Amino acid sequence: MDDEQSPGPLDEDLSRGLVHIHEKLGRRILEHDKLAAHVYALTEVLIASGALKLRALDQRKADDAKAMADEATSRWDGARVLDDTRDKYTVTPAPVDCASRVSVCKAACCRLSFYLSKQDLGEHTVRWDVARPYHIARRADGWCVHCDPATRACGVHERRPLVCRRYDCREDGRIWQDFEQVIPTAEVEALPPPA
Ligand code: SF4
Ligand code: SF4
Repeated sequence: MDDEQSPGPLDEDLSRGLVHIHEKLGRRILEHDKLAAHVYALTEVLIASGALKLRALDQRKADDAKAMADEATSRWDGARVLDDTRDKYTVTPAPVDCASRVSVCKAACCRLSFYLSKQDLGEHTVRWDVARPYHIARRADGWCVHCDPATRACGVHERRPLVCRRYDCREDGRIWQDFEQVIPTAEVEALPPPA
């Protein structure tokens, strides 16, 4: 059809996200059905043998269900968004000359994982990891999907996330042994340089 448009990055993210959710859900349903069949069979055998009383089982089920619900609530991490509502366009970036350092630091900061803010998500520019919503999406090589593999420049510089704007590598021991002397850590040293 003439007026059909090719999907944008958001549509692709959305459909990848839905496929991921459906796959996980399908697997969980199968596992649940298997487990339920096992438990029913076990219960019937135990009741028939007299080892289990129905009333005691019901009481125990009610107690366990409550304990499991409390536990699930306490450990559910789920999809998270950065808890920082600052307007990213008002953040003053750290005075670091990235262009003169990138051959040494290799833009190792763009390998770090972080949450996006609501503002980032609302702009539909920066991509998030569908398997870990709403972390920045990273490539298989570990760098952010927006980091040019050849130059290590940011492909969404104007709309880069709040975290990228707030970030200051000067005191980051994961990147520099000595920022002033431009000495990176051994881990950064071992990374491949920009092409
Ligand atoms: S590690 Fe520091 S100097 Fe290198 S790109 Fe990141 S912010 Fe710039
Ligand atoms: S959005 Fe840009 S600055 Fe932020 S991690 Fe990705 S490439 Fe680096």
